[in-house]
Amino acid sequence: MATGLGAPAAREQICIALGAIDAAHEVLRATSSDLVGTDFRVDMADRLETQDRINRGLMYRIFGELAAPSDGDGSIIAVRAALWKRLRITPREITRRCRLAARIRGRHSLTGTHIAPELPALAEAVETGVVGEDHIRAVCQAVDVLPASVAPAEVAQAEATLVEHAARVDAGVVAKLGQRIADHLNPDGLFSDEDRARRRGLTLGRQGPDGMSKLSGLLDPQARAYFEAVAAAVRPGHRQPDGAAGPDERSCAQRNHDALKLALATALSSGELGTHRGHPVTVVVSTTLAELNQAAHAVTDPTIPMPPWAHTGGGSRLPMRDLIAMAANAIHYLAVFDDHTARPLYLGRQKRIATTDQRLICYARDRGCTRPNCLVPGYHCEVHHSPDWTPNGRTDADKLHFACGPDHAAATEGRQQTTVTESGRLGWTDGSTPPQINHAHHPEELLRGDPDPPE
Ligand SMILES: [Zn+2]
Repeated sequence: MATGLGAPAAREQICIALGAIDAAHEVLRATSSDLVGTDFRVDMADRLETQDRINRGLMYRIFGELAAPSDGDGSIIAVRAALWKRLRITPREITRRCRLAARIRGRHSLTGTHIAPELPALAEAVETGVVGEDHIRAVCQAVDVLPASVAPAEVAQAEATLVEHAARVDAGVVAKLGQRIADHLNPDGLFSDEDRARRRGLTLGRQGPDGMSKLSGLLDPQARAYFEAVAAAVRPGHRQPDGAAGPDERSCAQRNHDALKLALATALSSGELGTHRGHPVTVVVSTTLAELNQAAHAVTDPTIPMPPWAHTGGGSRLPMRDLIAMAANAIHYLAVFDDHTARPLYLGRQKRIATTDQRLICYARDRGCTRPNCLVPGYHCEVHHSPDWTPNGRTDADKLHFACGPDHAAATEGRQQTTVTESGRLGWTDGSTPPQINHAHHPEELLRGDPDPPE
């Protein structure tokens, strides 16, 4: 437990201790372990692992304090931005650490009474460096899978037992013990609606180099009932893919896939999904005129190579052949751009909506958030207006650029400054460097090593 020092004394003491660790690391790195012998190396590995875990425990303490500072210091959005920039860890990892820290930290209520952490045994083991990251994950998973009908005292007992074992065995064993405890506490596998609601989820994996994506997760009974009904419509011999003739040779898994695709396409074309940021919910795809021309010819002439990919507003790649097939259904927004000027040549859609035109330009030019190294795709971006740039014969859309929610707020509140560069892209700076543009959605620029700031 930390001792009660004033802020300057606490800062000094922490800096001295961190400095001593840095100095000790230098000594360790400079000292050869070539001749110390295997027993000594195992001891050394043991101590390094423990120190790593203690470090991790301190890290969770700091993340807990950052997320809910008792000195009420700083906005969480600015803190997250600073952590992302300084630690170079992903936003998802920042969220994960804050969430876990909240579960293993005690708090003080408004009246000043101490509230014990949700997972007290795990909290102590993390703080003292007894358990590693994989143990923590195994204990949390085992506790989280218990249904709400298990009494709190039994959950606490399960947690304490698993942590006790985590101090002696690896995380794989802890995970298996967790499953056995869950089966014991919930022998009939009884789960309430609340348990099911908590456990439902679908994870769409990242798109592979071949364009395919892995989907995994748990459906609740209602979702399964819908899925089964749609899958029945895609039973053997029914609704085969375009151009497929003769007997249906699809596997069950392939028909399930086609059923999901049919359901999503039908939902989108129904127009019943409402609007998203001002335009009807639908697929947005952008490409260039040269590639679209080539693709249109390649469909009929096999000697012409099919250009590879168009880009969707979700940040994924869509084969040009699929784009042409989808465009025939006319339910999608298609933006075609000149190769060099990023100027729209054609905007196709069902209805003309001014704000949609502007967003389409953002999709094609920016593809996603414009702040350097931000990976948020276009579907999840707001439109940022760069007011301090005086246009010279340019359209309004030249002043509008994509920014994700937190970055848009950073620009609006003045923590970041934005300027439209000569290339029409938005440059960002916090004032310490020249404005930089985001190449993260344009891998061809990353590879070319395009100058930044752009000329
Ligand atoms: Zn962003």
